[in-house]
Order: sequence, then structure tokens, then C-alpha cells
Amino acid sequence: MDCCYRHDDVGCQFSVPENELIKFSDKHWCKFHLPMKDDMNQSPKALWNEQDVNSFNSLLMGNGPFVEMKSTNGPRLDGVIRDLKGVVFPGDVGWGDRVVADFSDAEFHGNFNLFPQT
Ligand SMILES: [Zn+2]
Repeated sequence: MDCCYRHDDVGCQFSVPENELIKFSDKHWCKFHLPMKDDMNQSPKALWNEQDVNSFNSLLMGNGPFVEMKSTNGPRLDGVIRDLKGVVFPGDVGWGDRVVADFSDAEFHGNFNLFPQT
């Protein structure tokens, strides 16, 4: 089983073990694509605290090892360009380095700060 996310006929780009997928709205999601809510309910992501949000952001936006990605879903964009297509960011995001990313189809539920104070 994989994360149910699809965009332009391409599935989830992240390599997330099946036992880490989150069931919500009758589908299975990786934590990166998990929406904040469906028509009826909030998802677990909507209840994340600041620490959860920060560790999520640092996986995607930090300078440390980038989250592991599949290599089979089209071009592998990492290192220079991070493939963050469809990621649902639950809170404020800071952009601390000269990292370039593809944010197509991504959602931001907080502020996006291009040049955060560190
Ligand atoms: Zn996913």
C-alpha cells in the first residue's frame, strides 16, 4: 500500500513505510500529503503541536538529510531542487537556506517566511 496522493497522474514521491501511513477519510496518506481536513472532520495533522510542525518542517526544509524519496516517480528532484509537490504544510514554514523546491499543488496553512531570522 502506498500513500493515495496523486497529481498529474504521478503518485506520492516520498518513500514512507506502510506502517507509517495515516488512515484518514477512508484513504491512506503519508504525513506529508495528509490533508488538514475533509468535508466532515479534521485530520490528525490539524491537532499537531508546534514541536510536531517543526520536526515536519525540518524534514522537508532543513539542512539535514532530506526525507527519503522514491526514484521511480519521474525525475528525482533532490539536492538542488526538492520535490515538495502536494505537501500540506500545517503551520508556519521558514526557508533558511538557498534550497530550491517544487511546491506545485502544495498547501500552506501558516505563514511562509522566505528569509526567517535564525
Ligand atoms: Zn504521500
